[in-house]
Amino acid sequence: LMQLSVPLNFIGFVYREIRQGLTDIEAMFALLEVDAEVKDPVGAPALTVTEGAIRFEDVRFGYDPAREILKGISFEVPPGKSVAIVGPSGAGKSTISRLLFRFYDVKSGRILIDGQDIAKVQQASVRGAIGIVPQDTVLFNDTVLYNIRYGRISATEEEVLRAAELAQIAGFIRELPEGFNSMVGERGLKLSGGEKQRVAIARTILKAPPILVLDEATSALDTHTEQEIQTALDLVSRERTTLTIAHRLSTIIDCDEIIVLKAGEIVERGSHRQLLESAGLYAEMWAMQREASEAEEALRRAREAD
Ligand code: ADP
Ligand code: MG
Repeated sequence: LMQLSVPLNFIGFVYREIRQGLTDIEAMFALLEVDAEVKDPVGAPALTVTEGAIRFEDVRFGYDPAREILKGISFEVPPGKSVAIVGPSGAGKSTISRLLFRFYDVKSGRILIDGQDIAKVQQASVRGAIGIVPQDTVLFNDTVLYNIRYGRISATEEEVLRAAELAQIAGFIRELPEGFNSMVGERGLKLSGGEKQRVAIARTILKAPPILVLDEATSALDTHTEQEIQTALDLVSRERTTLTIAHRLSTIIDCDEIIVLKAGEIVERGSHRQLLESAGLYAEMWAMQREASEAEEALRRAREAD
């Protein structure tokens, strides 16, 4: 029995690693709604990240050759800076992040990371350099500890704990029946959207990627949770090249550049202040969100007065 249990355990371990790896990739593809279709060129070198600069050069792309989704997109995110992409739904914002991950190849133009065309290096090395905090994180059926450590399997328990602190989730985890060893996921404790997002942030803090892609939550998080998440996101994006797909404009006013995308084209760009002054689409979106949040606030006060 002893002789058997060792290899079985070992197989179990390997199987688990493979299964978790697949789960993650599958979850990613499901999240990003894409299929794996790009191939590495033969003998492609790994991407060498020096500073984490991103550059889109006249990028054109369509999922279907008959319908162009991105119509000549050019922008840069200098090392350590943050750029936000805003615009109406269907404008092509998520498509930009999918292309940066190289889930698809561009039709024309180039995407460069530190001067290297991402179509000419190993996909895995591109994805290894980028951390994503998605809107909806899929957790593994495993412990919270494992779910956070997934960001860097070699991390010590202390490092996992520190990442959880930074992501503003450690207090919550300690109160769970079995603390960091509590099972989560479909077959364990169900975490709320905000809690899952903070687990994803902790994971990303451990991974410490040079490039970050944030897809902000629009979901009905309460103001307190939203502030906690924002604090955690600000921490993780500090000093990192960050591309934020923003829904709530109030969270991106400090970005170095805001790009306004409409029907696959950049229609405005600049700082929050510049965009408000130019009184275009951004200013209109800003005014609309202000009105909506004021109405929400008035409604809340009316309810409290009842
Ligand atoms: P946004 O994130 O700005 O809301 P997306 O980048 O998700 O917009 O989508 C831009 C356009 O591309 C939309 O018209 C959408 O319907 C289309 N689209 C997105 N994903 C696919 C896909 N996998 N296949 C075909 N069309 C897609
Ligand atoms: Mg989107």
